[in-house]
Amino acid sequence: MDENFTIMIHKLLYTLGSSIRNPSLRKHLAFLEKTHYWSKKELEDYQFFKLKELLNYSYDNSIFYRKHFTSNNFNPNDLKKISDIKKIPMLQKSDLLKNNSTIHTNWLGKKFKAITSGSSGNSLSFQRDESADSFNRAVTQYCYSWYNVHPWHRNGYFWGFNYTFEKKIRTNFLDFLQNRFRVFSYQKSELKFFIKKLSKAVYIHGYSSMIYQVARLINQGGLTKPKGIIFIKGTSEKIYKNYHKEVIKAFGSKIRSEYGATESGIIAFECPAGSMHINMEGVIVEEVNNEIVVTNLQMRSFPIIRYRLGDYIKLASNSIKCNCGRNHSILEEVTGRIGQLVYGKNEIYPSLIFYYIFKNLDLHHSISLNYQIIQKEKGKLFIRIEQHLKQIEIKKIDSEFVKYFGQDIQYDIQEKCILHSEKEKLKSFISHLHYEF
Ligand SMILES: [Zn+2]
Repeated sequence: MDENFTIMIHKLLYTLGSSIRNPSLRKHLAFLEKTHYWSKKELEDYQFFKLKELLNYSYDNSIFYRKHFTSNNFNPNDLKKISDIKKIPMLQKSDLLKNNSTIHTNWLGKKFKAITSGSSGNSLSFQRDESADSFNRAVTQYCYSWYNVHPWHRNGYFWGFNYTFEKKIRTNFLDFLQNRFRVFSYQKSELKFFIKKLSKAVYIHGYSSMIYQVARLINQGGLTKPKGIIFIKGTSEKIYKNYHKEVIKAFGSKIRSEYGATESGIIAFECPAGSMHINMEGVIVEEVNNEIVVTNLQMRSFPIIRYRLGDYIKLASNSIKCNCGRNHSILEEVTGRIGQLVYGKNEIYPSLIFYYIFKNLDLHHSISLNYQIIQKEKGKLFIRIEQHLKQIEIKKIDSEFVKYFGQDIQYDIQEKCILHSEKEKLKSFISHLHYEF
């Protein structure tokens, strides 16, 4: 089929699909085109306006927030400037989990179910209103446009190989609608097939550690390098500096960084000049004791106000100006998300596989576990579980692990473990192995 015709079809499919699923997307896109040129003052004025609106809405419509504000002697009318937000005590994930139903407002419009991954192994599920969902999609789409990339362009995806047979069919279909193809496993033979398909891709995105692994495979194996890739986006994992050399060699471009979370939406996105600009229209980011505290300015169905995301960050000084010309604040570094790898006897896997394993256990078998996994040697894992496990639950855990790792990894499970740590962020995966760079 003629390439231009294919692109046209995919653009049409995308536009049609998003106008049905996300009717407010266009409005948000037009807004972002306008704010692109705003001064810092204009951006901050908008943040203040949205924050005030959010606090009033939450006070009036969320049982939790009304109590949270009043018991801490705060009234939304007390907000005279953005920094007054500091009068509101911070929240953390356990607060959102514990008070899930009373945080939800009585928002009546269209909503989508959202589920987070959990550093403590506890995943949070909540309702995201259509406008917040569309806003977030608009931000992504807008940031892609800086690189001349559109969501309907052909793309390779290193993500979500969470499949049963039915799910694979469904995923393949949804991927087709988004002109996307993905790796369904990280076995070498499958990766080689994936690399062949990359020859027609315009952009690739997903786990940076896997993009790096694939780049290495291309470079070392003397495989044909994909020529048409103009944009590479890494998410969810720290992008190590030494990834870039291999990735540029294989794909001709460095990995660009996107930083966000399910609760907050996109927090920052790397511009072509190399700065991670804060999505100031969508979030207020505070740096408190080197830690990120985020407020989602767009979501009404499940307000997120002064939320400790659990990452360590460093904000750039306000006086730094980016060469791209935008005035949005700059996130200098995210230090808390490490793209750790799990070593099997023969293969290497991204540690976020554990997220899928425990999410499956929860979604399909209603087994909700708090976990921590420790690796001290290749091909072996030590799984610590907080709960008491029934025999049938252990069997389900076994089948999930086999699904992802086959016989490549052996493990021991210890139940009734104490996983809480008062002082530092609880890590769901701790590896004592050194990376083979
Ligand atoms: Zn910039």
